[in-house]
Amino acid sequence: TVFVLGSINLDAVARVDDLPRPGETVAGLSLELFLGGKGANQAVAAARMGVATRLMGAVGGDDSGAGLKAKLAGYGVQVGDVVELPGVPTGQAHVWVANSAENMIVVTAGANAMVTPQQVAATTIEGQRVLLCQLETPATAIETLFRAGSAKGALRILNAAPALPQGAALFPLTDILIVNQTELATYAKLDREPVKLEEVSVAARKLMSRPDQTIIVTLGAAGAAVVRRDEAFLVEGKKVKAVDTVGAGDCFCGALAATLAAGMDLAEAVETANAAAALSVQKAGAAPSMPNRREVEAFLEG
Ligand code: ADP
Repeated sequence: TVFVLGSINLDAVARVDDLPRPGETVAGLSLELFLGGKGANQAVAAARMGVATRLMGAVGGDDSGAGLKAKLAGYGVQVGDVVELPGVPTGQAHVWVANSAENMIVVTAGANAMVTPQQVAATTIEGQRVLLCQLETPATAIETLFRAGSAKGALRILNAAPALPQGAALFPLTDILIVNQTELATYAKLDREPVKLEEVSVAARKLMSRPDQTIIVTLGAAGAAVVRRDEAFLVEGKKVKAVDTVGAGDCFCGALAATLAAGMDLAEAVETANAAAALSVQKAGAAPSMPNRREVEAFLEG
């Protein structure tokens, strides 16, 4: 099983001709509401791969919180560890997308910021093979989970996104760290994004604190680099026509966690995660675009 600790958001996506300037009001062309948040998206991606997936997190005591939980359950995610906090708003992302494809996004953490170490400590993670976290819930809660997981022999995966200074303190507690090129540049304090495998591996090794750690750097359409202390290799991405890359990283992380929990070896799991993410960029939306296991297997068989 996969145990995800992470954020749950209501994403409100409005299309506009042009982004508003400060003080300006513009008419939206359309409005769509989606289940979002990195934790929720990654849990959906893992569950769609056919692996039992539990999500721990917090929503508000409002209608949207209950609605998002129901939606998650509809995707097969176990939501018994998602608390509904009265008097607190559910996390929301307000996204404006212009005709030029430029966007502006405001994320309010709401209930996601209220996930506590106590909430984590009160649950049992006995029997959870893989723990998967991102940085949209408090680092203190992640630390508690990873310390407990270490005692139970679980594989601890951290997708250190978004790039936050407090994220780096968790690196020593992780077994697999997943970052994209922008996040790698931020954590490794580079002034530009590393591109070539050689540059990527040098930068990634700066984030290692133990010899047994693995760092996976996602490289967009190029695929992903796997960096360990003594080896680094590229797992090439799948060639597809991208329609919407929002949620590609989340699909990759969820699929990777699921395939590792199912016992796949790392190189094959990264190959499968690339395939799942490539399928997801061919469809609009984050959660609705996550492919299921049969679709991924069929795609890999070509
Ligand atoms: P993020 O979504 O965090 O910016 P990336 O852009 O690196 O992360 O994408 C994550 C993964 O999604 C990649 O490692 C790759 O497997 C897949 N992916 C992203 N964009 C494409 C694309 N245009 N074609 C095929 N696969 C893609």
